[in-house]
Amino acid sequence: MTQQPASASIRKRLAEQERENAHLLLVRAAALSLSDSPTTSSRTRERLAALEAENAALRAKFAKTTTKTRAALEAAKAENVKLQAAAKQTTAKTSTATLEILNRLEKENARRREALQTVDVLYLLDCTGSMKPWIQEAANKVVDVAQLISQKLIGYKIRFGFLGYRDFHDGADRFTDLPFTDNILQLKAKLEGTYAMGGGDGPEDVLGALAKVTRLPWAARTRILYHFADAPSHFKQFNDDVVDDYPLTDPDGRSHQDAEWIMNVLGELNVDYHFVQIEKRYTTKMLSAFTKLYNDRTAQRALQILDLGWNTTKFLPTIVNTITASVSRTMMREGTGEEAGSSSISEPDALLVKTINWKKASTWSDLATGRATSCNLSRSLDDFIENPLGGILHGSIEVNIRMEPFAAGALRYAFPMYEPQNKRCLVAKAFKRGSVGRDRYFEVMTIQSIALKLAYEFNKHSPPKPIDFVDVRVVEIRLPSGSAMYVTVEPFVEGDYVKHNNNTDWTNELKVTAQAYSHFTWQATGNKLMVVDLQGVGYILTDPVIHSVDTTKYGNTNLGTKGFNLFFAKHRCNFVCKRLGLNRHPLQPADEISTDTEVLHRALEAEGPREVNCTALGCARIVELTKPKKKSDPLCEVCIEKMRIKEKAVCDELGCSVTFEYQPYWYTAKGMVAPKRCTEHRGKRSIRSAKTVAI
Ligand SMILES: [Zn+2]
Ligand SMILES: [Zn+2]
Ligand SMILES: [Zn+2]
Repeated sequence: MTQQPASASIRKRLAEQERENAHLLLVRAAALSLSDSPTTSSRTRERLAALEAENAALRAKFAKTTTKTRAALEAAKAENVKLQAAAKQTTAKTSTATLEILNRLEKENARRREALQTVDVLYLLDCTGSMKPWIQEAANKVVDVAQLISQKLIGYKIRFGFLGYRDFHDGADRFTDLPFTDNILQLKAKLEGTYAMGGGDGPEDVLGALAKVTRLPWAARTRILYHFADAPSHFKQFNDDVVDDYPLTDPDGRSHQDAEWIMNVLGELNVDYHFVQIEKRYTTKMLSAFTKLYNDRTAQRALQILDLGWNTTKFLPTIVNTITASVSRTMMREGTGEEAGSSSISEPDALLVKTINWKKASTWSDLATGRATSCNLSRSLDDFIENPLGGILHGSIEVNIRMEPFAAGALRYAFPMYEPQNKRCLVAKAFKRGSVGRDRYFEVMTIQSIALKLAYEFNKHSPPKPIDFVDVRVVEIRLPSGSAMYVTVEPFVEGDYVKHNNNTDWTNELKVTAQAYSHFTWQATGNKLMVVDLQGVGYILTDPVIHSVDTTKYGNTNLGTKGFNLFFAKHRCNFVCKRLGLNRHPLQPADEISTDTEVLHRALEAEGPREVNCTALGCARIVELTKPKKKSDPLCEVCIEKMRIKEKAVCDELGCSVTFEYQPYWYTAKGMVAPKRCTEHRGKRSIRSAKTVAI
């Protein structure tokens, strides 16, 4: 990986920040230890300085790549702010507080040291009848494996876990497991007590077992999975077995499609997948499918197939060698870092959609805590566009998250998430590739927030349908298993979650309004940027694309001025554009004659009588125009009659009880919402005022 030019200066800043932190700690220690005897306090100070230096060294070890350095710099900055605040509180000068800092630093250092040298190994075994020789060999050799490994990887903390699986026919015996432990004798006993039995038809519940593997509390730096199986998974995509009881879907509702998220999550968790191949003729089809889904060149990730057949004596040497190889791969990965993916944010329709039982939310997981960040939309439009991440809002949330996605796009998964405190149903979206960094999540939030901010401005002009985008936050969530991940979080929109990409399902009002909104965003930002590609989940919009004159922002779907041109080359201004007084772009095609009154009347004057369509929305009757009496949109006789009908309504404004008259069909014909206020109060307040997004 080539070094980015910025990394040297960032590292320098990090070093400066570290030094300043160390300095502040000393100042604070000095202030706090005023009551200590001189010798104690100077010794304390020395110890503190030594610890801080070690802390910095360890942090530097973690911060090898630019992004990691940046994250470390931010952490150091945050620590700096805390320390500065603490340094000011010179009133609380107790030596116990000094000791607390020391203890905290000591613990942190120990934790960092330990985290570097940890390995989790999982034995995943098919435990049906034919697998007896392999289960026995595993039971006989696990202690030897552990001993040999500890001689090779000195100082490493290694945990072993076991998951045995069978099939749906085996009922309660379908799964049997031992959570990760460093008690190797316990593992031996567990394997000795596991019998090879059952299985029913040819294939076994492999996907059910692997789904369980994704939910294990993987915590180590190096994570290794050994999958021993002589039979394939259910589903015809994975086997050629004539006796497969579940060729399409299984009793858990899974299908072959679930393999996609399972393989990706395994990859994202950095679980190094080793498959011990015993019966090549049965498992080849499944393995080639798994390999395609799991392998990722940029993340240097490849499924390892260990072709051992029934030669169980190879268990010991194979496991020992592959564990050490996997540990060195971890070192390489930590050292070289991973490059971010380059595919676009825009996604096709959801690939897999499952219903969510929100009532069961409390059973998905223990409560996970998350640090939430959202854009501050109460700022002025110009300020906001200039720097969307300025004045950013922070908060924390507690949620239940189901680690099985209910929908998947080309790039991201959507997981159901529930916030019990506010009874809120949410959607957490995570990129499939673990190599996608924090910046990418902030980019998604930025694009969506700019679109929402511009929608607030647009709605002030009372369009036929208000434009609404979902509020997106970035949440760094700490899972009950202890691992942390970034997700974007948005409210769950009831109903069909499949996106209407091609916009054909939209009503005419929404189509017209969405077009005008895109045109509006270009004008409202002084022709600097434009929000396009609106996609709907119901009437709420999501995942827009921004084209901007600044092509360094908004991801690689930002086509710059070329994007503006592409939009305008096809855009005919509609009545909403006109009511908003939007400027024409030179590339725009001429308006259709029936929708542009000005052009129509000019044409009539030149050409004499002609036939046009009635301009009322939803009416296509032919109107014969003889001579323009006044410059208005042509209407058929039926529509003219409908226009005459009047209705009365009471003003909606607080404190006003004025009754006003209006012509409902006039609004319908123009695709507008009927007025709710009297003429005096009309247009004084926006449909929806800008709000601060509170967390
Ligand atoms: Zn327009
Ligand atoms: Zn009509
Ligand atoms: Zn009023």
